[in-house]
Amino acid sequence: MSTETHFDKVTLIGLGLIGSSIARALRQVPVAAHVVAADRSEAVVARVRELGIADEATTDLGAAVENADLVIACVPVGAMGAVAEVIGPHLKPGAIVSDVGSTKGSIVAQMAPHMPQGVQLIPAHPVAGTEHSGPDSGFPELFHGRWCIITPTEGADPAAVDRVAAFWQALGSKTEVMAPDHHDLVLAITSHVPHLIAYNIVGTASDLEQVTESEVIKFSAGGFRDFTRIAASDPTMWRDVFLHNKEAVLEVLGRFTEDLIALQRNIRWGQGDQLFDLFTRTRAIRRSIIDQRQDTADPDFGRGRK
Ligand code: NAP
Repeated sequence: MSTETHFDKVTLIGLGLIGSSIARALRQVPVAAHVVAADRSEAVVARVRELGIADEATTDLGAAVENADLVIACVPVGAMGAVAEVIGPHLKPGAIVSDVGSTKGSIVAQMAPHMPQGVQLIPAHPVAGTEHSGPDSGFPELFHGRWCIITPTEGADPAAVDRVAAFWQALGSKTEVMAPDHHDLVLAITSHVPHLIAYNIVGTASDLEQVTESEVIKFSAGGFRDFTRIAASDPTMWRDVFLHNKEAVLEVLGRFTEDLIALQRNIRWGQGDQLFDLFTRTRAIRRSIIDQRQDTADPDFGRGRK
């Protein structure tokens, strides 16, 4: 049986980077007959209307989900429970509710209690983004060639899982199904802890009194600059990610700290072979990422010579 890829009505809640990118993509692929945008912010709703990226835009979340076949919550992770509570009573039987949150165990815990009988909760996480936020930062190709991880809970209807997967594939993503807890561990090492390290190194640099801010900026191309891009990511979103993926982040951070201390020892005792071996291993990982087309092979991340 082929998967039904068409939805009569899709409602997006939260029209920031991710929500507005989905809205824009839905203008290009025939997946949804009618797209409704809902956001708590009057200014965002007004901007969505100006941009013309949805058929309707409103601040009334309950009305927005009435009769929707697919609802996708695109708000910060810490706001998912509040959104689910508001929309729950307005969902029709047979509706699919999904989200794009960067953590998954917490989404299930926050949203599932508010889902009425006959509604399928199928959480998902498009592993695609930039350091920008708001409705003007979205673009329709954001998901092209990127992974979207779908994390159904036990007992989820496989047909609903397939429909959510087909939706993301139509937007250009590759999809994989994973348990919510496993997702949280994988993303802790690939995304959450790297962001924490970037926030930390940029914070340390700004506190280092013997080095002036102008020197940090002037000589940033030495590596620091790449951390600053990540450390410019949205503070609300990332505060919520750390508070809602606490266990996995702390576990990975524990391992990271041990490894960092080992490196400290290697440097202190002049153990060049250990350093060389590690740097050789890490170079191979970079090569695999490029081979699997998850980044460009261009020198200096494709910035070119200026
Ligand atoms: P964003 O650009 O900041 O947009 C979030 C939008 O949701 C804003 O318009 C915000 O309005 C609105 N909102 C917040 N709380 C709300 C509520 N209770 N009810 C209705 N609307 C509400 O954020 P984003 O980068 O698109 O991220 C959205 C989600 O995607 C997050 O869960 C994040 O973890 C996930 N994600 C992000 C990335 C990334 O790289 N950015 C990648 C993958 C997944 P206000 O401005 O009024 O707060």
